[in-house]
Formats: sequence, structure tokens, C-alpha cells
Amino acid sequence: MKSFLSSRLSSLTPYVPGEQPKQAVIVKLNTNESPFPPSKKAINFGKKALKTTRLYCDIECTALKKEFAKRYGVEENQLLFTNGSDEILYYAFNAFCDEKVGAVFPDITYGFYKVFANLNGIRYKEIPLKEDLSVDIKDYYSANATVFIANPNAPTGKYLSVSDIEKIVKENPNNVVVIDEAYIDFGGESAVKLIKEYNNLLVTQTFSKSRSMAGARLGVGIANQKLIENLKLIKFSTNPYNVNAVTQASGLGSLKDEKYFKNNCKTIIENREELISFLESLGFYCTKSCANFVFCKTDKISGEKLQGLLRERGILVRHFKLPRISEYLRITVGSKKQIKILEKNITEIMESIV
Ligand code: PMP
Repeated sequence: MKSFLSSRLSSLTPYVPGEQPKQAVIVKLNTNESPFPPSKKAINFGKKALKTTRLYCDIECTALKKEFAKRYGVEENQLLFTNGSDEILYYAFNAFCDEKVGAVFPDITYGFYKVFANLNGIRYKEIPLKEDLSVDIKDYYSANATVFIANPNAPTGKYLSVSDIEKIVKENPNNVVVIDEAYIDFGGESAVKLIKEYNNLLVTQTFSKSRSMAGARLGVGIANQKLIENLKLIKFSTNPYNVNAVTQASGLGSLKDEKYFKNNCKTIIENREELISFLESLGFYCTKSCANFVFCKTDKISGEKLQGLLRERGILVRHFKLPRISEYLRITVGSKKQIKILEKNITEIMESIV
């Protein structure tokens, strides 16, 4: 049959999200969601906003923006909210890359960067991580392209200090540097404070992980006003109503409940360290993760095999069939109860193979 698909898209490989199972699973640790519900304030604010959905939503996200600016010490005109942080990343590829300006990012990182580049016909270079899977910041000096770095990186969990980020930003005065901070709340220090000084830095964050709102889809870009205006061009040329009323209100509720948010982040960090100690006690190697997931491997069983065996027991974790990391598993840090179940099952599997 004739294909009507644009030839531009004929060879596009889309991003493959982690599985969202239809059947009940015992423990779902494959997509870096939070094990905790959203804050009660987020839920209540969202419920109230449902009543307003006869009308289009506020395209400026006014109340949300005001609260975020106050909490994060930035100006309201330095913010742009989007439908998840995937959307602000997509805007960045659109706004800051073209046939002349390409993109650079690590060879092992968030899979969407490559997809966004391909979708827009943008040239890109994947810069190999060091042997220990860390970013060599010097590789990004004078990149002569838009730089995309997830910090902490995914799926390695490895983190660059703000001073390292600053060096990359400083060494690329003529290009935009995008720092994707989807996992920053789990132990890293945000580079947001640098936006006052550098006009070429865009920091992106999400409410999906640390604020338990993955399904509500709320992300944000933080940068100087000029960059935000550039990004708004894409928003107002595609979907001005990109953040719906319920999500805006829930996001506001979440911001107004900092205690709950901070407590959850603290628990995830504790649980992560507990899980790493457990895995190490079984002889696994784990990267030093600053995220809400653990990246680990063992020479006793392949990552793929272990993922399959856990799956048979109703436990989902993520395996990537990619060069350099095919031996690893990425395990989302869940609640204490989920981790106990995971640990019991890994112990049983490891005992059964020796
Ligand atoms: N950046 C990274 C590194 C991620 O892992 C994810 C989650 N898959 C995102 C951005 C996008 O998350 P969201 O669109 O839910 O904000």
C-alpha cells in the first residue's frame, strides 16, 4: 500500500518509553516514577480546577509561575512551563538547533535527545562517556553546537557539580547549554542559580519524579528572559494551551507543600543508599547515583536475564539493549516495602544460579 508518511519521517526511530503494564504487577520499578502519591494539596487544587475546564486554561500559567519564581529565587519572565519536561527539551531542539547549529550530548544519556534531533533533521554528535560512565567536561568545551547534558545523567545517575556545569557554560559563550535536571532533587545541586550570570544556559526540570506528578505532565524551563522568549515562539506556534488547567493547579498545590516534597526526596535518597548497600553486599557494581534510580551490574548474571527473571516474579526494572551498558539494570528507587520485596527476590534468584 502507498505510504502517506512524509519521507522526512520514514527512517525515524521513536523513543521507547518504559512499559506501563495493564495487568497488576507486584512492584513497578522501571520508569523512575515516585512510589508516593502527589501531595494532598496538589490533589485538592487539581480537583477544584476541574470545575473550570469549560474555559481554556491560562496560557501564561500565572499562579504557578508566581509561586515557582518565589520558591526558586528567579524572575517570572525567566520561566516557561510545558507538558512535561520532554516538551521543553523538544522546544530547545527546535529553537536552538538547525541545519547550521547541531547538537552534542553524551553517547549514553536520555534517549529522547537523539529522537528530537532526528525528528528535526538536526546534525548531532554523541560524545562517549569516560570508561567509568562519567562526563568529561572538557569534551564539551567549544562545542560549536547546542549542548544537552542530563544532570544527574540517565541512566547512569552520575552527577556533575555546579562548578563543572559553569565551566561548560562559560566555554560555550556562542551556544546554548541545556542542563536537563529531571533528577536534580535527589541529592544534586541545581544550576538554576547560574542563569542570572549566563545568558546561554537553559535549565529544565520536571514535576514528574520528585513531585510525584508524572501523569499530570508538568515541566519547566528556567533561563534568562531572552531564551525564554525564544522558546515561547515554539509554544505559541504549536500549542499555546500546552499545560492544562488541572495540571497548573496541581503543580501550584505541590509547590505549596514543600515539606511533603522534601520529605519524599529524603526518603528516596535513604532508600537508594539502602538498595545500593544491599546490591553491593551481593557483589553487584553500582554507579554513584544521585538520582531516584540505581544503575547496577553483576558478572554472575546478565542484565537482560535478571530483568526477565524479575519480570516473571511481577517485578519490573529497566534494561537497555545498548552497547556499553547492556550488562546493567536500571532500578527505580521505590518505597521501603517495594525495596524489601525486590531484595528478597534478587536474593532468591542469585541463590538459585550459584
Ligand atoms: N529528562 C530525563 C533525563 C528523563 O529521564 C526524563 C523522563 N523520562 C525526562 C527528561 C522527561 O520527563 P517528563 O517529560 O516526565 O518531565
